[in-house]
Amino acid sequence: MARAGEKVDYVFKVVLIGDSAVGKSQILARFARNEFSLDSKATIGVEFQTRTLVIDHRSVKAQIWDTAGQERAVTSAYYRGALGALLVYDITRRQSFDHIPRWLDELRAHADKNIVIMLVGNKSDLEEQRAVSTEDAKEFAEKENLFFLETSALQATNVESAFQTVLTEIFKIHSKKNM
Ligand code: GDP
Ligand code: MG
Repeated sequence: MARAGEKVDYVFKVVLIGDSAVGKSQILARFARNEFSLDSKATIGVEFQTRTLVIDHRSVKAQIWDTAGQERAVTSAYYRGALGALLVYDITRRQSFDHIPRWLDELRAHADKNIVIMLVGNKSDLEEQRAVSTEDAKEFAEKENLFFLETSALQATNVESAFQTVLTEIFKIHSKKNM
């Protein structure tokens, strides 16, 4: 919620997508509130959360949407107006990576043409259970023209970076349009 008197120059909608249990809600909790919970139901029912950052001396409100446990029922309204997306898989669950092309197709079918997409391999703290190599993911990301990072919502690794990169890129595209 905007505080009284808070001046926001831009509001950017960013969506989280990917299979159930890859860590989307925990990534969002880490970014929006700097929290982590082992209770996976913690944020069910929440549609989006916001955090305001400063980019290039401008106040940018990031409005981050979460599927809130409704991965099978994501509708076109979810993608509408989204300028960025975090496409999340779990590095310990191969299937969640194998499903990424389908999520990407859905995203490209519904979202803005210029949408900024970050491929995110979450749970990097579970290195001993790794089932998706960094190289495979990097190769896929390069082929599809996506940004790529491995994150740990648990250890707060690269979560900030992932959002910062996406928001800064959206900002660049947006401010170019206004020149
Ligand atoms: P979602 O269904 O994609 O929203 O996934 P959740 O955020 O609910 O997370 C699913 C499960 O994975 C929960 O038990 C989380 O505590 C756990 N989890 C999420 N992120 C991480 C992480 O970075 N590392 C580890 N070890 N567990 C995580
Ligand atoms: Mg969730």
